[in-house]
Amino acid sequence: MEQLDLRQWEARCIEEKQPWCIAACPLHVDGRALCAKAAAQDWAGAWQVLLRTMPLTAVLGRICDAPCRDQCKRGEVGDPIAIHLLERACVSHPRPRRKPAPVPNKPKSLAVVGSGLAGLTAAGDLLRKGYQVTLYEPGAALAQGLREHYAGQVPDQAWDEELELLNKLGLKVKAEAPVDDPGILDDLLDNHDGVFLSVDVLDPEAWPLERGEDGRPVTARPVQATAREGVFAGGLAWPEGFSPVWAAAQGRWGAASLDRLMQGVAPGMSRENDGPQETRLFTSLEGVESLPMVPAGPEGYGDEAAATEAARCLQCHCLECVKVCPYLENFGAYPKKYAREIYNNQSIVMGARQANKLINSCSLCGLCEAVCPEDFAMQDLCLATRQGMVAKGKMPPSAHEFALLDMRFSLGQEFRLAKHQPGHAASAYLFYPGCQLPASAPGQVRAVYEHLCASLPGGVGLMLACCGAPAYWGGQEAMLAEALAAWKEDWQALGSPPLIMACPSCVDVFRRHLPEVEQRFLWEVLAETGAPMQAPPAGALAMHDPCTTRHDKAAQQAVRGVVGKAGVELEELKLGRELTECCGYGGLMSTANPPLAREVITRRAGQSERDYLAYCAVCRDRLASVGKRALHALDLFFPPQGEDDPAARPNPGWSQRRENRARLKAGLLRDLWGEEAPAMEAHRQVKLIIPPEVAPLLEERRILIEDIQKVIFEAEAQGDKLCHPESGHFLASYQPYKAVFWVEYTPEGEGYRVHNAYAHRMQVKGRARP
Ligand code: SF4
Ligand code: SF4
Ligand code: SF4
Repeated sequence: MEQLDLRQWEARCIEEKQPWCIAACPLHVDGRALCAKAAAQDWAGAWQVLLRTMPLTAVLGRICDAPCRDQCKRGEVGDPIAIHLLERACVSHPRPRRKPAPVPNKPKSLAVVGSGLAGLTAAGDLLRKGYQVTLYEPGAALAQGLREHYAGQVPDQAWDEELELLNKLGLKVKAEAPVDDPGILDDLLDNHDGVFLSVDVLDPEAWPLERGEDGRPVTARPVQATAREGVFAGGLAWPEGFSPVWAAAQGRWGAASLDRLMQGVAPGMSRENDGPQETRLFTSLEGVESLPMVPAGPEGYGDEAAATEAARCLQCHCLECVKVCPYLENFGAYPKKYAREIYNNQSIVMGARQANKLINSCSLCGLCEAVCPEDFAMQDLCLATRQGMVAKGKMPPSAHEFALLDMRFSLGQEFRLAKHQPGHAASAYLFYPGCQLPASAPGQVRAVYEHLCASLPGGVGLMLACCGAPAYWGGQEAMLAEALAAWKEDWQALGSPPLIMACPSCVDVFRRHLPEVEQRFLWEVLAETGAPMQAPPAGALAMHDPCTTRHDKAAQQAVRGVVGKAGVELEELKLGRELTECCGYGGLMSTANPPLAREVITRRAGQSERDYLAYCAVCRDRLASVGKRALHALDLFFPPQGEDDPAARPNPGWSQRRENRARLKAGLLRDLWGEEAPAMEAHRQVKLIIPPEVAPLLEERRILIEDIQKVIFEAEAQGDKLCHPESGHFLASYQPYKAVFWVEYTPEGEGYRVHNAYAHRMQVKGRARP
């Protein structure tokens, strides 16, 4: 990812956009944080929130006229939040003690004329930036007019507090200044480097400034420049009408302009964040109860009432994707942040790549994009990053190796098969069940094939292989091209017939990478051939769509059509069809992050009490792996032999999945085509006794029976094994690929009892001798 790409990715996620209250406030007071603190009655915390952006806090907090209120999202479901009353409740608590922030010392002198809200704000801001500020006040004391105007709302103590703070910052005051003298502006500019006019307390007639039709100085916000160079003005709340917050904001913007001017920067540069603005934030109101404002007495809110009002705040965020995706939730942030982490990860030259797990754990299911108001596709970001990592040799082998080896198995001689229907020299169709349906229910594959052969004219060929999905998901483009080329070779050898596809993942991969292959979904074909119901379920079933059918309405409908016509009642899950959730296998999540994949499927399994109905073999088996009763839709029409209760069928496990594929091919070759399967490799003859307590360990550690057979075969053939003097157990290792497997075993009868097995990636130097 280049830096420009990062910017584009980041820009699409609007989670960090301001909530409406902040965006609409001229001072950008953080109403959301204020509500959070007030709801918890954390008044010191609430004060800190106000102090961050609200000048003259003890005063403005009491007279804020809440110009943000019309924009508050809460107003769409009830009354908007009474932020101004929460501010008032907050500042009626004592101001928390703060260590004064260090103030720089800038050798420039600035004049502020008038102690209106704008002038006092500008003076405070400029003092905090380190300027020498002199305030020219026509009256005898500062803010006299304001004190009188707001006497019922702002106690003297609040004014004293704020003016004392300005005093401590070094404000020089020239009271009873002759501010209406015609030449004063020239004098001010002779004695100071810049001037801010708080025009709300000045006689407009006395000031020789360019004026608009209403007689007020022409200033454009937020720069607040007048026609006179070095002179800025503000404080009149025009054209919006009088507003204390607007007045203070204009003082703030004028101070910012003076600061820029003093630093030799154009006052108008990069001012787009000053002042109220639109926000692109999205906040869902789905399921939000409409609530009225908590009524306030003449003194405003007491603590309890303020907390109740603050608790009505929606704490506006987007996070639509995080709400539905346990993977996004698991890493503790949201896509904008993840894009940065991923970018930083790939930019690391030396040191640990902390985000590898993040990149490799996404199931690439696309649900985030489906719910995101901005169509942020985390799956595209993760997949492109994986491809880049593989291309640069930066992909850790442990991330996906197990699944890639399984893919190689499906493309190898033990499973790969491509044949015309027995007795036919050509195929009108080719049944392609994928690799995971044969791994899960080999007998069912055979039954479906026989049904298709009996129902469709012109010969139905059969092809067993892997579509290359693991390579696609793992970002292994070269490996994917190789798998697809092998697949295509077999397909073309059969005359390139149209496919009948049973696996939704294969459908998805072929649509993306082999668009020239004509394909039909098995369920569309079964709708025509009329498969009879063989095993009606006991009750209604909850429908689980595989994530690879998210945008395939026809596939979703085809299964529902056949199952519904057979009289099965279906319950639709809340997140179904285009909003369906992944089972945790897609994108190789279960290989890269098994605990997360388990959390994902456990959460999915808990969404209905009913038995689930899936039409992807992996989805069904993963549901079964967490104890959920689940059927593959084919179980209703082609029930697995010897299963009284197919919904209770366990997940076969990794080793059995391989065994099932190899046996399916051997059985079909023998029974349908009268051919012998290729001889098994010698190590496959090793007989194993796996005690029940060891079997789950092998499954969890992803150690296959065949891996153990290889270790023992090599150890016995070479004599490379250690013997424990007390237990008499042998310990041997073998490295068939990047992982090293260790097995603890003892000979027993014609086979070997396995006591333990584990795998790692360290290189073991030297050889053990008996
Ligand atoms: S849904 Fe997610 S990715 Fe999309 S804008 Fe919201 S937080 Fe960002
Ligand atoms: S609901 Fe809360 S966070 Fe949202 S705009 Fe209103 S005050 Fe701000
Ligand atoms: S693609 Fe799926 S797993 Fe990945 S972030 Fe999006 S919703 Fe989550």
